[in-house]
Amino acid sequence: MKAHEAAQLYFNRAADLMDLSDNMRRLLSIPKREVQVQIPVELDNGEIATFVGYRVQHDDARGPMKGGLRYHPAVDLDEIRALASLMTWKTAVVNIPYGGAKGGIAIDPRKHSVREMELITRKFVDQIHDLIGPDTDIPAPDMGTGAQEMAWFLNQYEKYHGYSPACVTGKPVELHGAEGREEATGRGVGILAFKLMSRLGRKPANTRVALQGFGNVGSYCAAFLAEADFKIVALSDLSGAYFRPDGIDVSAALRHARHNRGSLEGFSGTEKLTNAELLELDVELLIPAALGGVITAENAPRIKAPIIIEAANAPTTPDADALLHDRGAVILPDILANAGGVTVSYFEWAQNRQHYNWGLSRVRQELDKALSDGFERVWDMSNQRKVSLRTAAYFIGIGRVGRATVLGGIR
Ligand code: GLU
Repeated sequence: MKAHEAAQLYFNRAADLMDLSDNMRRLLSIPKREVQVQIPVELDNGEIATFVGYRVQHDDARGPMKGGLRYHPAVDLDEIRALASLMTWKTAVVNIPYGGAKGGIAIDPRKHSVREMELITRKFVDQIHDLIGPDTDIPAPDMGTGAQEMAWFLNQYEKYHGYSPACVTGKPVELHGAEGREEATGRGVGILAFKLMSRLGRKPANTRVALQGFGNVGSYCAAFLAEADFKIVALSDLSGAYFRPDGIDVSAALRHARHNRGSLEGFSGTEKLTNAELLELDVELLIPAALGGVITAENAPRIKAPIIIEAANAPTTPDADALLHDRGAVILPDILANAGGVTVSYFEWAQNRQHYNWGLSRVRQELDKALSDGFERVWDMSNQRKVSLRTAAYFIGIGRVGRATVLGGIR
């Protein structure tokens, strides 16, 4: 199933139970604007290569649109469209004053030099700078991008529009970035894991965790969970999965990756598994923090974890979600679970506009509050309406966006 069809299924499942009118459903489903651009560049070897970039602006009823830029070979319009809609519901669930958007380039950044990636990023900005801005649409990092890409993005944008630090978030702290932004998504997953476990009456020390993905989200999440006394028994990245039933020394894994260009390849003292095997381990908590669509109807029957926290965007297909739900598994959905990133993006944007630095402890404190409030609302809604946490999150997200749309009026 394609990514957008899956996103629509989740939306429609909630919309059905909310008795949302067909007109409102259509309005909230069709993106406001979709852009596809050509990015031709001269590679280091003198050859001309042409890439395709996208920006989908899904909805702006609650504020400027917000969402990351993904650099990955699987990027296409359908995927970006799906991810843009998730951003609309995500920003609404944690109640930050944004709509949703997403962008990306179909490219494998590992196959290109730093110079090529800089050129490609700048050319992408040349194509879309008129469509984005601090009050309209604010990009940020996503898979395959980070603070460096955001710095190039800012610099190129400012060539057209002058000083505008708030046009993009996730910037380096030396260049109008916010302390605490880089760690925010992983930290947020950790904060929510802690809350969810205590609601379910489980202690971190008795919770074995399998964590898929050791990029920005996975690595900060692992560090937070280890600090909070969770027992991480498996980690993974593109090189495969690393399993140790007694628990992995997470600081050793982080050190290993730091000295090995970010990769866990060769991490010793563990049994080597595949990424697919990691998902099926006998653990209490499974955290997919990498690609979308990894939990499917095919492998769901073999997934043993009773609790799943979706650190990645769209890791569970709707049919797998239904199978797991029927079996009694608890799934904390992406639109809440990984909302820490966009929440601290909002704090970065607010600081840029205030010309005032909040400092790390205030950022962390406010992140904790925003996610705790979001969690409590979703938890209560799920209990009141007797629906899954995902459907409860969609109720809240769709409700807020729908009300803002109606209140603003359509003229
Ligand atoms: N790419 C992240 C997400 O999927 C962060 C977006 C942002 O900070 O705007 O939520």
